[in-house]
Amino acid sequence: MCVHFLTTRLLPFMMAFMSIQGGNEQGGRQSPGSQTSLRNRNQQRIVEALVHLGPSTQADLARRTGLSSATISNIVTKMATEGLVSVEPTNRHGRRAVSVRLLGGDGSVAAGIGFGRRHLRVVLISPDYRVVAEDSIVLPQGFRPADGLSLAEDVIKRLMDQIGVAGNALVGIGVGIPGAINHLTRMPVRGAVSAEWEDFDPFGELERRFKVPVVVDNDANLGAVAELIWGPYGRVSNLIYLKIGTGIGTGLILNGAPFGGAAGVTGEVGHFEVVPGGRSCRCGNRGCLEAEASTSAMIERARPNLATVESTEDLMARALEGDAAIQRVIDDASVHIGNVLGDLASVLNPEVIVIGGPLVGLGTLILDPIRRGFSRRTLSVVRDATTLAVSSLDDRGEALGAAAVVFRRAAALTDA
Ligand SMILES: [Zn+2]
Repeated sequence: MCVHFLTTRLLPFMMAFMSIQGGNEQGGRQSPGSQTSLRNRNQQRIVEALVHLGPSTQADLARRTGLSSATISNIVTKMATEGLVSVEPTNRHGRRAVSVRLLGGDGSVAAGIGFGRRHLRVVLISPDYRVVAEDSIVLPQGFRPADGLSLAEDVIKRLMDQIGVAGNALVGIGVGIPGAINHLTRMPVRGAVSAEWEDFDPFGELERRFKVPVVVDNDANLGAVAELIWGPYGRVSNLIYLKIGTGIGTGLILNGAPFGGAAGVTGEVGHFEVVPGGRSCRCGNRGCLEAEASTSAMIERARPNLATVESTEDLMARALEGDAAIQRVIDDASVHIGNVLGDLASVLNPEVIVIGGPLVGLGTLILDPIRRGFSRRTLSVVRDATTLAVSSLDDRGEALGAAAVVFRRAAALTDA
């Protein structure tokens, strides 16, 4: 990937990410007892500076990251103990200094983990956003997040073995979770995340498990990032990614940057009311988009007539076979989704809206009704200016986006 691309297409959103994620040395607004988290974020900044600068003195790192000499020194010492960096004496402008070098060297990789309902995907990417390895594995239904992360850890190790890079080449891990995470408390948001994730502390668990810095975000936000980097849409500044799964959420890219709002809990269109007095929703309201149009809502609607439809795969297979009743269920749900996207587009006027999630294989069976619902609720000028498409990244978007956010502050430094 050329520097021009990084500058024109990615720089603005990388810069915005820096402010969204906070991560200043004082810690900013963060949960109490997060010294480990703070240290990890600072370590991530040092890794990013080393990826960009190559071997550097601690003074170089302090200048680049804005961290104090004492902080740099503490973290570098810890990283050297853990075998992540080497520290050698050097001479800079006639003064003695130490040179810090990433032991992973040019082979540095970031890992991205994306969780589906019944599978997880892991990707490894290089600092220039090349996918160097990936795999997905099936998960038992109702898996516990901690068990999922154990399995992901095994996959990461296996993939690193496969491509022949040492453990210390891993500079960070990004994870997409199925729902909202509050960037201030760093905890999943009750009612806006799959039930099994509600009381799970993803940062705590990951920081205990891995020595490298971690980033955790809503899978829809990460899907949006992946579309911006790997999608076929060229230079796009305003993009909405909507994921239809057992939940429904959007990731927003505005003016070239992910939009994180006050606490990172943005794009929660799953809880827009689409049917007044409709089905009850896990958030406590009724008639939410999620209660009417998620994959589980569609399966539930199909059930009275077709008891054999038990999963998203069943639903898709029957629809593709031409089952009119199932197609109607999907059509009705997709119109609701289109309506909400129309409202959103009227506010944001995006260039591109991408639909992601397991149903994308249905192609026009979901896209046509979404377009109908969308057109009904937008001005023609907005409608005509919007490209509406299903994701071309299959089920890889969330894992790709998760890996990309590990490197994106590094790339911002590259172009600063
Ligand atoms: Zn709701």
